[in-house]
Amino acid sequence: MQDFDDIYAHVPADIPAWIEGLSLAMTIDGADADPVALVDVIHACDEQVIAQSPDAGLHHVDQAVDAARAAFPAWAGAPWTERRNLLETFADRLWDARVTLALLIAAEAGRPLRRAMSEIFFAVDYVRTIAAQELAETRYELGPMRARLTHKPLGVVGAIAPWNGPVILAVAKIANALLAGDTQILRPSPFTPLSALYMGMIARDIFPRGVFNVITGDAQVGAAMTTHPRIAKISFTGSTATGRLIAAAAAPTLKRLTLELGGNDAAIVLPDANIDLLCDAVYRISLENAGQFCACVKRLYVHETVYDAVVKGLGERLRAARPGSCFDAATTMTPIQNRKQFERVWHLIDDAVDRGGAILCGAQRHGGAGLFVPPTLVGNVDHGVALVDEEQFGPVLPLIPFRDEEAALRDANRGEMGLGGSIWTADVEHGLRLAERMECGTAWVNQHGAFSAALPMPFAKQSGIGTDYAQFGVAEHSRMMLVNARL
Ligand code: NAD
Repeated sequence: MQDFDDIYAHVPADIPAWIEGLSLAMTIDGADADPVALVDVIHACDEQVIAQSPDAGLHHVDQAVDAARAAFPAWAGAPWTERRNLLETFADRLWDARVTLALLIAAEAGRPLRRAMSEIFFAVDYVRTIAAQELAETRYELGPMRARLTHKPLGVVGAIAPWNGPVILAVAKIANALLAGDTQILRPSPFTPLSALYMGMIARDIFPRGVFNVITGDAQVGAAMTTHPRIAKISFTGSTATGRLIAAAAAPTLKRLTLELGGNDAAIVLPDANIDLLCDAVYRISLENAGQFCACVKRLYVHETVYDAVVKGLGERLRAARPGSCFDAATTMTPIQNRKQFERVWHLIDDAVDRGGAILCGAQRHGGAGLFVPPTLVGNVDHGVALVDEEQFGPVLPLIPFRDEEAALRDANRGEMGLGGSIWTADVEHGLRLAERMECGTAWVNQHGAFSAALPMPFAKQSGIGTDYAQFGVAEHSRMMLVNARL
């Protein structure tokens, strides 16, 4: 990861006033849309109101659909290279705006600025990588028939995003849809609307009016998009529970769906694993970011011969974690983004302890402000305890010792989730063979959560429907059409 330390020199003295000065507004048809109300955005590091965000009414959904529908024929008919070039311009403008966007992510998500900057870095790379994709046509010759299979845009796509990656998860949806020739309405999480509103404003003088619209609002606005008869597809990232609601709501209009849902990723640590490598990775992606990453290690199965070494290695890293203001360069630890999730994480810890779980490290409630949960390791828990069976989405990790590798693999494959998984071993060939047998969309060896826009991201079981990234995400935003002529 790049070092973005110089970002700390750009922190405004009065952040709420600075955000107000940006005059963030919804974007419909390339212009400001008047909100029905203003809602507070809470800063997770101190639970104070850091900004007010415009709130949409249900009529904004219709207005945005009208604008996106009107823009669709010209955008769908534009040459692929024109849409690609405009996406590349969008990537350039996001990079130009990186300081503002990183400050907005820090404000709305509570994420340390250095991490917020790395999110922008990956988001810009994502847009550039997707912009370079092609959807190939296929030709068939069957007797007298000459057929051609091509990809056509779908129409208006509704994009509904969660709070844990306010920029990266939004731009992934934008790039896929706009390159495919769809027009889009993005509705960010009400917890983290600020950076999406700003991206809508950046996009206004890049894309034609109505091609890209941003509306805010609560779950009702999202729900209205999922039932709207003139929205052709919903691209959703969020929890499995909401994914089920969206699938049901979209059924009467048979919308296309891409659902990127929750995960409960298992990592299996074999006796010959590099424990330092494992501990660095698990700490960085699963604990320091407060577990708020869809595909991070959420269950750690450790061979009994290296269990103590893993507890020691993770414990050392955990004890060095520094909670604090995300605008302070010394802070490393991310808070939980919102109180509801904060309470759920504590509930999972308390429940595990009630059921005999042993706190190996962490779990002291700190008396200060903010939604910080100290990174916590819990031993003596197994399946049947919610912390193991369910997605925690917080910095608390159950450690489960094992003796038999086959039994560990069976346990790792239990449950309804199938996002990611990993095997840690010095014997990479053996690791690959075990990884093949994990029931998940992506299985890694000696790494976890390593994504690239150039690699597909598939989903297994109830962790999602569809495949994102690379050309697959673009293909998901189009329909196939066969034209067949008789000679
Ligand atoms: P969530 O499901 O609570 O909310 C996601 C979004 O859906 C929010 O914008 C919310 O307002 C909206 N929403 C809620 N009810 C709705 C409804 N009935 N109709 C339409 N929209 C509705 O999820 P969250 O708490 O914001 O995000 C965390 C979850 O997202 C975790 O489960 C995490 O694993 C998952 N996630 C998955 C991926 C992935 O790629 N698979 C990536 C990031 C996050």
